[in-house]
Amino acid sequence: MGNYVERLRCAYCGSTDEKRTKEHLWPASIHKRVVALLDGGEQKFWLARLDKALPNEPIIRDVCAVCNNGELSKLDNYICEAFDRYFGVIRDRGEEVTFEYDYHLLKRWLLKMSYNSARISGSDVPVFQPLIPYIMGQNISAGRTVRLFLEMTYPSEIPADERQAGMPAIVRPEINRVGFFGYNASTGTNMLRAVHLRSFSFLLAFLPRAASAASVQAFVTEFLSRRPSARELRASTLRVTLFCDGIDCWKSIKSGMAHRIHFSR
Ligand SMILES: [Zn+2]
Repeated sequence: MGNYVERLRCAYCGSTDEKRTKEHLWPASIHKRVVALLDGGEQKFWLARLDKALPNEPIIRDVCAVCNNGELSKLDNYICEAFDRYFGVIRDRGEEVTFEYDYHLLKRWLLKMSYNSARISGSDVPVFQPLIPYIMGQNISAGRTVRLFLEMTYPSEIPADERQAGMPAIVRPEINRVGFFGYNASTGTNMLRAVHLRSFSFLLAFLPRAASAASVQAFVTEFLSRRPSARELRASTLRVTLFCDGIDCWKSIKSGMAHRIHFSR
């Protein structure tokens, strides 16, 4: 009892001195936007699913106020702007989509979400340690080992035999999710990180630091040939155009549940 406060190291700067913050995995500013867009019926359906999938709402307690209110909140601001421009509207299957982006702000935010999710799950945290200077905007080249792809998730029909009471026949990518994405490469299964912002599914591939340029290029080429609806996002380009034909929403949700994803709620 008393006023003892446990002092965890900040997961970003390592400081033990600053006050720590307590926040949900999904920034409140993004969560608010999703909730505002949910229609009553679909929301009821999701919340029922979420209660089953996720007994406790994930909370981050190991980030100091300086990091949280400084660099990390700049990233959240960027993604809120992108949300208002792009992620609000659910895309139809086959629709052509043009997405303009700031490569580094986008990738840094996606990595922040993935790192936070990894700490909550106690999963692959060490993968993120060398990327912290990149996430914090201190060292751009530290992010080179992560390649970023975008693929669109389209609304899909839930097969009749999988439909439970209250489920809609068509499921739309209404909510945000973060988790894993299994990809069968010729060299074996790779787990990519996935951050789904409604119709937009951002896929992060972590390549070994020691990988040669040729082997990285081979990975990218094979990935894009196996997933023809995906596009690689590059630092050298400002926009990408693609068709909403990559990921089946229902299959993605089912596989995500198998891999302990974190929903926005
Ligand atoms: Zn900090």
